[in-house]
Amino acid sequence: MPEPVMTASSASAPDRLQAVLKALQPVMGERISTAPSVREEHSHGEAMNASNLPEAVVFAESTQDVATVLRHCHEWRVPVVAFGAGTSVEGHVVPPEQAISLDLSRMTGIVDLNAEDLDCRVQAGITRQTLNVEIRDTGLFFPVDPGGEATIGGMCATRASGTAAVRYGTMKENVLGLTVVLATGEIIRTGGRVRKSSTGYDLTSLFVGSEGTLGIITEVQLRLHGRPDSVSAAICQFESLHDAIQTAMEIIQCGIPITRVELMDSVQMAASIQYSGLNEYQPLTTLFFEFTGSPAAVREQVETTEAIASGNNGLGFAWAESPEDRTRLWKARHDAYWAAKAIVPDARVISTDCIVPISRLGELIEGVHRDIEASGLRAPLLGHVGDGNFHTLIITDDTPEGHQQALDLDRKIVARALSLNGSCSGEHGVGMGKLEFLETEHGPGSLSVMRALKNTMDPHHILNPGKLLPPGAVYTG
Ligand SMILES: Cc1cc2nc3c(=O)[nH]c(=O)nc-3n(C[C@H](O)[C@H](O)[C@H](O)COP(=O)(O)OP(=O)(O)OC[C@H]3O[C@@H](n4cnc5c(N)ncnc54)[C@H](O)[C@@H]3O)c2cc1C
Repeated sequence: MPEPVMTASSASAPDRLQAVLKALQPVMGERISTAPSVREEHSHGEAMNASNLPEAVVFAESTQDVATVLRHCHEWRVPVVAFGAGTSVEGHVVPPEQAISLDLSRMTGIVDLNAEDLDCRVQAGITRQTLNVEIRDTGLFFPVDPGGEATIGGMCATRASGTAAVRYGTMKENVLGLTVVLATGEIIRTGGRVRKSSTGYDLTSLFVGSEGTLGIITEVQLRLHGRPDSVSAAICQFESLHDAIQTAMEIIQCGIPITRVELMDSVQMAASIQYSGLNEYQPLTTLFFEFTGSPAAVREQVETTEAIASGNNGLGFAWAESPEDRTRLWKARHDAYWAAKAIVPDARVISTDCIVPISRLGELIEGVHRDIEASGLRAPLLGHVGDGNFHTLIITDDTPEGHQQALDLDRKIVARALSLNGSCSGEHGVGMGKLEFLETEHGPGSLSVMRALKNTMDPHHILNPGKLLPPGAVYTG
């Protein structure tokens, strides 16, 4: 009797996975790793207490590699999780059972640089820091700056932003087009190099923020920006949280084209003084500012901002004059998460990421401070207040009870933000951690359309299953 032929519908999950690895071996060879340390590195992201080992990690070096992997995974119904730098914080990169982690971090090339049009095309695995070093001589830069050393592909997939979004926008505004490998292994290009186009559905925007659930991005056409002539950075401290938030709100409401306005409450500031050696400052609520433009424009922005801060009892501006001082200040801001983590080194830090319209920010943050006090937990607060977005870094014992306490506080904070017409995540994304809030935020109708899209584009649900979309009804027309 001949051996029965194994098919995707009859084989077990482990057998299907082995079939994919066998098919990939001749093409990918040593770029397939099953080493325990490599699997461990790809089993989790940052912050969230969730992990699961992938069965294998495959390192892609080209769009064709990604297409080959997806073609076989689609044929054998094997789950694939794209992996950039693994800095996402909501369990985005945690693989399900019997899955492959597809690492794009070796795809670091700049495919095309058009300085005269202020755009470039890069491979998805390049980090934003490397890109900025490589294009420095052109006088241009890429402004989206999440705290982690993230890849451009990962930043597209989470629709990331950072401290400069108030001036330059998020990934949504800075991605012009993409190369995407679909679940079947088919390669498509979306968008292009032009700044606007009124043709067709906006597929670029569909993939930006799709968290690796609709396709895997291999190339990205990015907008670049001219380096400003003049840069000034300063901090201003406040006795009261209310006064600091009022200052940030008035700056935005007055239309000052500020480049960065970031808040740290007194608990976060104390942690950052300790961690980053900002010893010349007090552990008080603090606003960090950056102004850019022509010298005259910067002067004007600074004067108006100083007047607003002083009208809200600001304790005076301390200027970071030299590039080194500015770098030190912004590094301290970017290291805030690690500073909070250092408060209790063995603890876990869970970050909230709410956003509300700017006029509701004061009401939200003051309510959140009351929630933190009532919870008895330590939770420094900081954020991109110019966008109405902030993080509470909830410090919790690394135990099931500790996680539950943190989750309870997280839920209260999200409920407050949603009741003020906000969103549960301004920049980190959904992953697994925010799934429970999506129905309240978007409503069942929108979610059912999202599920219909997912079913059309990834009929076997091989692309990062279990992320972004909670189960539920599907729009059928
Ligand atoms: C200290 C710290 C500070 C942070 N600050 C910010 C911040 O200010 N703003 C902000 O937005 N985020 C912030 N983050 C979160 C994180 O840096 C971002 O979510 C970032 O965009 C993730 O990029 P990554 O390359 O690490 O992606 P990964 O974590 O590797 O992946 C993230 C998601 O994208 C998918 N993915 C990765 N690459 C691709 C691809 N090529 N194609 C399709 N899908 C892909 C993955 O499957 C996963 O779902 C911070 C994180 C840390 C640890």
